[in-house]
Amino acid sequence: MTDRRDFFKSTALLGACVLAPGLDLQVRPRPRARSPKARMTLTYKPFTATLRHVFTIAMSSRTTTPEMLTEIAYDGVVGYGEASMPPYLGETQESCAAFLAKVDLGKYAHPFELETILADVDAIAPGNSAAKAAVDIALHDLVGRLMGQPWYNIWGFNPTKAPYTSFTIGIDTPDVVRKKVQEAAEYKVLKVKLGRENDHEMIETIRSVTDKPLTADANQGWKDRQKALDEIAWLKEKNVVVVEQPFSKETPLADFAWLTERSPLPIIADESCQRLQDVKKLYGAVTGVNIKLMKSTGMREAHKMLVLARSLGMKVMLGCMTETSCAISAASHLAPMVDWADLDGALLISNDPFVGTTVVDGKVTVSTTPGIGVAKRA
Ligand code: MG
Repeated sequence: MTDRRDFFKSTALLGACVLAPGLDLQVRPRPRARSPKARMTLTYKPFTATLRHVFTIAMSSRTTTPEMLTEIAYDGVVGYGEASMPPYLGETQESCAAFLAKVDLGKYAHPFELETILADVDAIAPGNSAAKAAVDIALHDLVGRLMGQPWYNIWGFNPTKAPYTSFTIGIDTPDVVRKKVQEAAEYKVLKVKLGRENDHEMIETIRSVTDKPLTADANQGWKDRQKALDEIAWLKEKNVVVVEQPFSKETPLADFAWLTERSPLPIIADESCQRLQDVKKLYGAVTGVNIKLMKSTGMREAHKMLVLARSLGMKVMLGCMTETSCAISAASHLAPMVDWADLDGALLISNDPFVGTTVVDGKVTVSTTPGIGVAKRA
């Protein structure tokens, strides 16, 4: 009798294990696939971003930026991405198209396995960081849309903590600089491009119009470390709050460390910091790093760079190229965790095909729709 009771008890328990969905020990991702045969397809087309002003930095001038716009479609949902390729990045629309032609997303069962897919994409060829970002951004947009969440929610960031963005004033004649500064009335922080012989004229011209805090970007333009230190002391008096990339990226890290140790302002590495491994390399030599999606191969690695830099106690600036609102919106989901945002890329172009994250009263205002938060402009 006792044996039969035990038999019924154990059979009932076994039944409960099979039937109760909460006790299913096999945890699998559940993609929102309406069709089990759904596969991802990647498409891309070239785009030329037109700049509002001729853009001059220490090394070059230009009026347009070559780009590639990407889409990844999966089961009726489309994610958008972008590669922005200013000349100094070394990529072209041709090299980008050649890279994207090698990306086969059809072999993956679903888009959620971002780590695997993006490691495979990274392994196709070295370099091509903007082309890789174009895949990464579209894939993140797609995954966020399928999950019904913006990426700041998936990452656990509070979008209202996004900082003010700086607005870049390129190197130009005093008349044009004054006009640009007046046009930038909405912005609380201005970014000044230095590194040519007229650095003091640039700063004095801006100071004749406004006393707003400035961030300074030497774009590798300074050669001598003592001169750089003297220059930074002068800049601090002019209410400059941070200095980016004082020396060439070929300059020994010991020179960066020498300057950082003595500098009254934080020193941020931009051209010296491309990808994740650079953050560790630069630790101790600079105060912080400037993370940009077009250098980092996209959102996945940019997020890892942010987390690593933070864990090492380094400052973080979030930057961009001249980009449409697609890549700017993608980057903006990281903005709540950075010290300085420099996300004016879409504001510098006149033919933005997207709407998404915007700047309201100078503050990065992160789009709240799922994915990276963009829609195509009507
Ligand atoms: Mg820079």
